[in-house]
This record gives sequence, C-alpha cells and structure tokens, in this order.
Amino acid sequence: MSRPVLANIDLKALQHNLARVRQLAPASNVMSIVKADAYGHNLLTCCQALGDTDAFGLLDLVDAISLRKGGFSQRVCLLEGFFTADEIPVIASNRLEPVIHSSWQLDILQEIEDELQLTVWLKIDTGMNRLGFPPADFRQIQARLSEMKCIQQVSVMSHLASADERDSPATAEQLQRFESATENSGCTRSLANSAAIIAHPDCHYEWVRPGIMLYGSSPFADITANELDLRPVMSLQSEIISVKHVKQGETIGYGGTWKCPEDMQIAVVACGYGDGYPRHAPSGTPVMVAGKLTTLIGRVSMDMITVDLRGIENADSGSPVELWGRGVSVDTVAEMSGTIAYELLCGVTARVKRQEVTNG
Ligand SMILES: *Cc1c(COP(=O)(O)O)cnc(C)c1O
Repeated sequence: MSRPVLANIDLKALQHNLARVRQLAPASNVMSIVKADAYGHNLLTCCQALGDTDAFGLLDLVDAISLRKGGFSQRVCLLEGFFTADEIPVIASNRLEPVIHSSWQLDILQEIEDELQLTVWLKIDTGMNRLGFPPADFRQIQARLSEMKCIQQVSVMSHLASADERDSPATAEQLQRFESATENSGCTRSLANSAAIIAHPDCHYEWVRPGIMLYGSSPFADITANELDLRPVMSLQSEIISVKHVKQGETIGYGGTWKCPEDMQIAVVACGYGDGYPRHAPSGTPVMVAGKLTTLIGRVSMDMITVDLRGIENADSGSPVELWGRGVSVDTVAEMSGTIAYELLCGVTARVKRQEVTNG
C-alpha cells in the first residue's frame, strides 16, 4: 500500500481533444503545446498519445532532446528559443526549431558556422508586449536571416493577449497587425492558441498552437469544457483515510474557519497543497466522494483536506475521492480558488504519481 493520491491521465480524452482541434481548424497544421511537462500530465506519455500531431511546442532543451531520443519524428519548436550559443549545435543536430524573439539571438546566429542547418520561428510582438520583435522590423529581420547560410527556413508567429475574452477588440487589432506585417512574406504563419482556435477562426493560418484545450479545460470563463466537447484528461484522485463524528459548534482544521452547524460526519482525504491542490480553495469547493458530490470544509493543509459527509452514505476509509476530473471540473476548482486551470494542472507536484488510463 502507498499513499493513495494519484493523477490518472486519460489518453483517449487527449486524443479526442486533438481531434476537436482538427475539426475546428481543418486547414491548419497542429503544433501541440506540451510545455511544463505537458501541463503537468507527463510529457512522454502525452506525446505518445498525440502521435497524430504535426509538431510539438515546448521550452526545455533537455525535454526536446528526450522527444528525439524517444523516437518522435514530428517537428519540435522551442518556444523561447535558445538561451546560450552553445545550445545551437545540439538544437541543429536534433532538428529542433528555436523561436527567435530578440536581437541578441540574431547576433548569435550571425556568428554560427554555415554547416549547421536551422529552421527557425521568428516571433513578432503584435500587442502582448512580452516576447517578440516589433512588427515593423519583420521584413528587415526576415531579409537578414535569409542571408545567413545556416538558416534553412523561417516561419513567423505571434501570441494573442486576450483571445479568451471573446468580445475584446484586442484580438482583431493583433490580427490586423500580424496580417499587415507578414502578408505575402512567403513565411508560414501561426497565431492561434486554444482560445483563438475555438473563437477566432480568422487567426488559424497554417499552424495552430493548442495547449489547454488538449488537456480538456475551457479557455473561456463563460463556456464549460463540456459545452466545447472537450474531455478532461487528468483526474486527480485520492481516498478517505479517516472518518469521524464531530459535534455541533466544533470547528474543522487550521484556524477553525468552518464550524459544524450540527452533529455530523466528516472525512479526511489524503491530498493537500503539497500535492498541488490549491490552498486557496474555499469551504464549499466541490469534491466527489464515492461517486457523490460534496464539498470541502475548512482550510486545505499540506497533505490533507476535510470534506462534508452529510448525505453521503456508505463512505468510509478507503472510499475513492476525485478532487478534479470528470465529476468535478478543474475549471470550477480553479475559479473558486481564484486561479485558472493552467496553474492547477501544471502545479500538481512530483510526489503525485501520473498513471495512464486508456479506457476513455
Ligand atoms: C503556452 C503557449 C500556447 C498555448 O496556449 P493555450 O492557451 O494553452 O492554448 C501557444 N503558443 C505559445 C507561444 C505558448 O507559449
């Protein structure tokens, strides 16, 4: 026996969500974003299930090399490019494709040997004001790259700041800047993250870059994953490890923030913020216990939470608990905790074993 907390990773759901991307953007290639250990779902397991993708996008060179060692032949994009010049020979020999976002990187490329062959993604900043060159500089940089013998191919990308706010005018403005900077440049183009794949088909271009939707979370606050026909990939599960009766007026846990309104049964579940369950989840956050919905009561501790067992018959030590997954949406837990599913999913800690399931 071991501590029962576990993240089940449903690979059928992952494949279903990739198929949803293809349905929504039928004319585009798909760069599946697998940064942060595939949003906390386990990189290699997920990449295997995503075999139908055209490319992977991630950050860490070691992770990218592990994909090549694992036999993956898809294109692999390094979303923050290279950090130091000594990475470039490894990048080239592994056929990895760095994003070039700053002039210091151009200066490094200028110095590398002609024999190295690189495919790169030029990133322009169309309004996010994070990574990327000014759109007005795009043509000149494209020309500079085309003179470098080591550069085989240049694609161009930009990132949207507000695609998840469907009515925000910012996306149309970014699209307009992207289009006018890059039209007729001969470069293949990429602009859309998950939110834009779903809500802004005019942003699809030749490559779409889905992240969160692959993992079955909704990029929008006002539409559920279920409504978008996205299936949750991770189910964070544990078990009850203790059940007890508590008298009316007694309080639960650190700070005594929750007071029992009557004599009642509560359960202690082996999962806490040390596992990645958010400490800011308030009393009332839904938890599934033995297949029934109940709520978190009291503060989240490092290793445990407590739940209300009123109305849940035959729950006992060993009963299964789902913290998020199919019964409780990770989006709901995130919203109640004042964050987004991205943070919860990639915040599941190393002590939680990821276990693949393929039964769908
Ligand atoms: C993370 C990331 C994405 C994916 O965004 P989602 O909102 O998760 O779909 C796409 N493009 C880039 C450059 C990213 O860093």
